[in-house]
This record gives sequence, structure tokens and C-alpha cells, in this order.
Amino acid sequence: MVNKCCVYGCKSRAGLNIRFHRFPKGDIGNKWISYLRQFNPSFEKKVSSNVCGLNFDPDLDYEISRTTDRKTSV
Ligand SMILES: [Zn+2]
Repeated sequence: MVNKCCVYGCKSRAGLNIRFHRFPKGDIGNKWISYLRQFNPSFEKKVSSNVCGLNFDPDLDYEISRTTDRKTSV
């Protein structure tokens, strides 16, 4: 199985010490999809879709940065 980041323009692949996340179910997964569609309107989630750790806020494991309102600031 090839892990490849499905974020538009992101060239991360497995084997580069990068963590990959599969799409979670429910609200968070839907947030990911709408986030990705900002960059690639034709994006469709596939079973093999993964998002690499570089596209996340390091503090928020399962929330992509910039999408959501920040609940906390320090
Ligand atoms: Zn990526």
C-alpha cells in the first residue's frame, strides 16, 4: 500500500518520516474534505486517502490547521 498525501500540491510520501492520517469518520472527516476542496474542488475521498502530518497543526492531531476556528490561544 502506498501512502501518499492527498492534499493538493503536497508531495509527501511515506518513508520520509512523516506521519500519515487516514480520514476519520464523522464531523472531522467532513471537515477535512471541505478543507481539501478549497484547493482542489474536485477532490473526492477515497478509501486510500491519507493526509500527511505536515498539513496539520502540530498541536491538534486530528484537526487540519486553518480550517476551524481556534478555540484556544495558549
Ligand atoms: Zn501533505
